[in-house]
Amino acid sequence: MMKRSLLLLILFAGPLLAQQNPDWHREFPAFKIGGNLYWVGTADLAVYLINTPQGNIIINSDFPEDVPLIKKSIESLGFKYSDTKIILASHAHGDHDAAVGVIKKDTGARLMIMDADVPETESTRQGRPGAKVDRVLRDGDTVELGGSKLTAHKTAGHTKGCTTWTMQVDEGGRKLNAVIIGSPNVNSGRLLVGNKDYPQIAEDYVKGFKVLKSLPVDLFLGAHGAYFGLKAKYEKMKGGGPNPFIDPAGYKAYVEEREATFLKEWERQKKNPGSGAP
Ligand SMILES: [Zn+2]
Repeated sequence: MMKRSLLLLILFAGPLLAQQNPDWHREFPAFKIGGNLYWVGTADLAVYLINTPQGNIIINSDFPEDVPLIKKSIESLGFKYSDTKIILASHAHGDHDAAVGVIKKDTGARLMIMDADVPETESTRQGRPGAKVDRVLRDGDTVELGGSKLTAHKTAGHTKGCTTWTMQVDEGGRKLNAVIIGSPNVNSGRLLVGNKDYPQIAEDYVKGFKVLKSLPVDLFLGAHGAYFGLKAKYEKMKGGGPNPFIDPAGYKAYVEEREATFLKEWERQKKNPGSGAP
């Protein structure tokens, strides 16, 4: 009895606690990460802005309730929300894409999404954006605007079309490789073995980690600020000195730790088929 109630508590409290993460909707100062790449997200939900002479690209939209904060952040940098030309996403979960339709409608920007995430993005199920995708991306496709080029790497598993974005920025004559991790995490309740909706899920995670380990990295970034220590690095940056977001060692350690966690969970589920991730 005790065990069952504990299990129920974990099952229901997990997603509930995650939804109540106060940092998701908390204002955070917009700032330049490097070159023409900027943070315009909340205190945890990443929104990246790439400023070009032909308008701006943004990666992620967060929830509709976060759009006023994003708009404020963009304008605090001296840019215009209405100059948003292209919307990209880390993956098709509400904390990153629920407002893509809102931003598309506000700005007329084109929405470009990895092929396997398109059905989720276009879905009108509760909480899904129901937004028409203007360009379907394949693994390795590039998105170009005003001299900036981003590459879409399929790092699936977390969702079927989970995307890690890379680009090179020019920081005072130095070329920096930015990597924006889509998500290497296994969410609570996810089945890695015998998943009828997503039979190749575990194999996709394996491939995704291989891709993440192969990318050249200077600027370590991701879909949530928590992946790469946004707050601590931002504070450090304000103090001057070398750019703390240049953190290839932190990236390597993070990816290795996440891979080990995934592999451990996969092994556990192989021995206990049908039991979702904790
Ligand atoms: Zn997610």
